[in-house]
Amino acid sequence: MYTDAHCHLDFETYDNLDELLADCRSAGVDRIICAGFDLESSRTAMDIAERYNGVYFTAGLHPTELSHCDIADLEGVRELCRHPKCVAVGEIGLDYHYPDTDKPLQFRFFEAQLELAHREGLPVQIHSRDSADDTLQFLKERESLLAEGFLMHCYSYSPEMCQSFLKLGAYFSFGGTSTYKKSKKPRRAIEAVPAGRLLTETDSPYLSPSSKHGIFPNTPLSIPEITLNMAELKGLECDEMSRQIRRNAERLFFKMRQ
Ligand SMILES: [Zn+2]
Repeated sequence: MYTDAHCHLDFETYDNLDELLADCRSAGVDRIICAGFDLESSRTAMDIAERYNGVYFTAGLHPTELSHCDIADLEGVRELCRHPKCVAVGEIGLDYHYPDTDKPLQFRFFEAQLELAHREGLPVQIHSRDSADDTLQFLKERESLLAEGFLMHCYSYSPEMCQSFLKLGAYFSFGGTSTYKKSKKPRRAIEAVPAGRLLTETDSPYLSPSSKHGIFPNTPLSIPEITLNMAELKGLECDEMSRQIRRNAERLFFKMRQ
């Protein structure tokens, strides 16, 4: 029982999703969350979740996609939230990686989507890149909106900072990057986070793990390697780690239990 808490599957990158998802089931990767990053990709993620058992989705507007989003898209996100297989609002957050970053625009959509998730009673999947301090400060000031819980997806900040996010109730997911021996930060962060707050993800089609270095597209079939690596870092057996991750996923993304 392996869990991919965050990936992007679509019908273009993966021309045979039937085959890929059958292979995932055979490999034991039987819980997969497809993450939306704008309204259209959120609807595609819903289509895929409707088609396959064990596949769920998130709906949300990603911070670097906002230039082609409209505040009216939030109404579309709200409708998707009520779908029985929509487990979270996401991915949402702050991303200062690109020089044309419009911070006020990112703040506005991040806050609006935190409010939306809270009103709809759903947790959120947070994307945060090159914006550690602002993300933490932003969340601290809005702690009351985080009652349903949140995932720091593909966590890339310091292990020390984990403690501040943990105080706010964070879960953390790690993907292919953590399997590279030279990736000191994510590996130390895994050691720093209690096993009860850890999740695995691939962020497919991106971030292939070390055994598939440079290969595109990555797939949820990388989850066993990511889980084994996490188990080794936590000093647990792999099946114990994967069962713990499943419990964590179902606690946070409660619609997966139904
Ligand atoms: Zn993603």
